[in-house]
Amino acid sequence: MSFAESQKLQTPIEYLKGVGPRHGDLLRKELGIATLGHLLFHFPFRYEDKSQFSLIRDLFVDQTALIKGTIQSLEVMGGGRKQRLVARLQDESGSLELIWFRGIKWIEKSLRQNKGEVEVYGKVTRFGRKMSISHPEIELSSKQDGKYPYKPIYPSTENLSKHKLSGKNYAKLSEQLFQIIQAKDVEENLPASILQSQKLMDRFQALKEIHFPSSKEKLHAAQNRLKFEELFLEQMNICRIKLNRKREQGFIFDKVGDYFNEFYKKHIPFELTGDQKKVIKEIREDCRTGFQMNRLLQGDVGSGKTMAALLAMLLAIDNDFQACLLAPTEILAQQHYQKIKAQVKPLGIKVHLLTGSVKTSDRKPILESLEDGSLQILIGTHAVLENKVKFKNLGLCIIDEQHRFGVAQRAKMRRKNKSIPHILVMTATPIPRTLALTSYGDLDVSTIEELPPGRKEIRTVHRFDTKRPEVMTFLKTEIEKGRQIYIVFPLIQESEKLDYENLESGYENLKNYFPADKYNMAMVHGRQDLEEREYNMKNFVEGRAHILVATTVIEVGVDVPNASVMLIESAERFGLSQLHQLRGRVGRGAESSFCVLMTGRKISATGKERIETMVQESSGFAISQKDLELRGPGEIAGTRQSGTIEFKLAHPIEDIHIMEDARNEALILLSKDPGLKDQEHTALRKFLRRMHGSESWSEVG
Ligand code: ADP
Ligand code: MG
Repeated sequence: MSFAESQKLQTPIEYLKGVGPRHGDLLRKELGIATLGHLLFHFPFRYEDKSQFSLIRDLFVDQTALIKGTIQSLEVMGGGRKQRLVARLQDESGSLELIWFRGIKWIEKSLRQNKGEVEVYGKVTRFGRKMSISHPEIELSSKQDGKYPYKPIYPSTENLSKHKLSGKNYAKLSEQLFQIIQAKDVEENLPASILQSQKLMDRFQALKEIHFPSSKEKLHAAQNRLKFEELFLEQMNICRIKLNRKREQGFIFDKVGDYFNEFYKKHIPFELTGDQKKVIKEIREDCRTGFQMNRLLQGDVGSGKTMAALLAMLLAIDNDFQACLLAPTEILAQQHYQKIKAQVKPLGIKVHLLTGSVKTSDRKPILESLEDGSLQILIGTHAVLENKVKFKNLGLCIIDEQHRFGVAQRAKMRRKNKSIPHILVMTATPIPRTLALTSYGDLDVSTIEELPPGRKEIRTVHRFDTKRPEVMTFLKTEIEKGRQIYIVFPLIQESEKLDYENLESGYENLKNYFPADKYNMAMVHGRQDLEEREYNMKNFVEGRAHILVATTVIEVGVDVPNASVMLIESAERFGLSQLHQLRGRVGRGAESSFCVLMTGRKISATGKERIETMVQESSGFAISQKDLELRGPGEIAGTRQSGTIEFKLAHPIEDIHIMEDARNEALILLSKDPGLKDQEHTALRKFLRRMHGSESWSEVG
């Protein structure tokens, strides 16, 4: 999308020859192309190298070929579901069949009307001795062909293709476009100094080259320039927020008072790890600068982030502020609450829990004590974000397991006060470089790498369902040793009903192995009401139940040090980070722990790779890196929200180097000219303003 639109670029798309009201409508509806400007930013997704036509004689199976020829015969064959359209394509060297099973009618019609040559693109297959291509991309050759060494092919839709705007036909529109617009219609938005230091093509030329490349090198340079632009504009925004926030007034926690000291000296049940101490120090220093803290605390599952969080809260209370801790699930909030309440009891600190299921009548006193300031620590879920919840003086807000909390919620918490509280976001999923520069690009980062002492490596194994009896025997020996066991079933929203059936039947099946007269099994899942779930959970947490059968409600944060086995059913259906989170539920005590990944024989290739990764890797960082590789960044929580713009060209992982360059340039530029007041930066400022709304870049205008 163009943000710096000249008058000309706002011309409606119908202005172009060949675009009637019908096309106009479809282009608008299906591709969002309403103006020439939109068309300018509708980029080709591949190019046909005209020197690359293949001769039919030279084709081989599985080749993706581009062929030019004429249609010799055209016939609809078979009937019913077997009906197909078969065309014979001939060139100077031979012939082959083109086959369509769908869209027969209109393809036949358009091929019958066509007299000249056609270009065909597709994958060659063999039926018996005959070569053929099914559902090729096909284009009726136009007279203008051959003008460019590379022919641009654009994203299109089925509907538009039916109306003669297949991916190959847009070129006739973009050709016209470049006859109409000139360099002055496309304002350069990058400062000259950056064009120079990064050796970038200018904007108009890059746009022209990306539609009609004059050479491979030029195309590459054009793509590079446009990717840089996308990433740079995003980084300008992220870095500006980061720098501004540094300047945002923050509460000053300069006292380390009685609460902190007494707790630290008398009530921590263990020696803090070096990394925990380091992190607490970082937080303390951050909170007394006078600027608001925005910090990400990353540390693998079980690394002891909660203790760091609690100490930070005590610091807030010592300085006469309130603190709150937000968890992504009810159970996790509950557990934090129970634990923290017990820990701070000797200090006489007032703590409450607020979640969606707290009754209205019970809410009132909580809300009142929040507003009059007598409540010192509030622990809760999303419910805390509701507008009704008001603090007297919230000084610190901690968000546990950030990936479940969107950027939007984080922003909401920031607005809870007249002044913005210090914010600490905790995550067990280490942030890969890409995300560190985008979703989390505005945060400072603290890391706990060291696990508390005495933890033993968790042995992870993969077992097929056929080995179930052996696995169950193993579970029994663990129970005999006094250990407890988690058994987790997948619950995927799309197949919820089926998954619940699996859970129920799995539970029944387990009863055969673990009869009720000898074993105590508890089950928790999202369909139970809270009381039941809590009761069952408690049974396990307090050591009465040997086995906890659960859906992923236990995914985050639950802490039962006596549990030594995590058995995951249909493990191939879980994502990597989820598996890692689940595995982190065991290995918390001093005993050897195990993670058993159960699957059937049939697993997809990526499913297999996930399982193998889990068996081989124990570090959360390695696993999240692998996760990113297997899934692509778009699916990882956080990436989607990262953007103020959606990238058309840049790829957040492959183009990480461009991203880093873009970030460096953004930081240099903002340090030299934070308000973008230099004349050289005016165009950029205007551009950013149009992109992000006048609010964000206006104070400098
Ligand atoms: P996470 O980082 O996953 O939130 P927790 O804060 O739940 O981890 O800590 C995991 C377990 O380790 C808890 O039982 C906690 O009490 C314990 N723990 C935390 N810090 C230490 C330490 N320094 N020494 C020993 N055990 C610790
Ligand atoms: Mg935790």
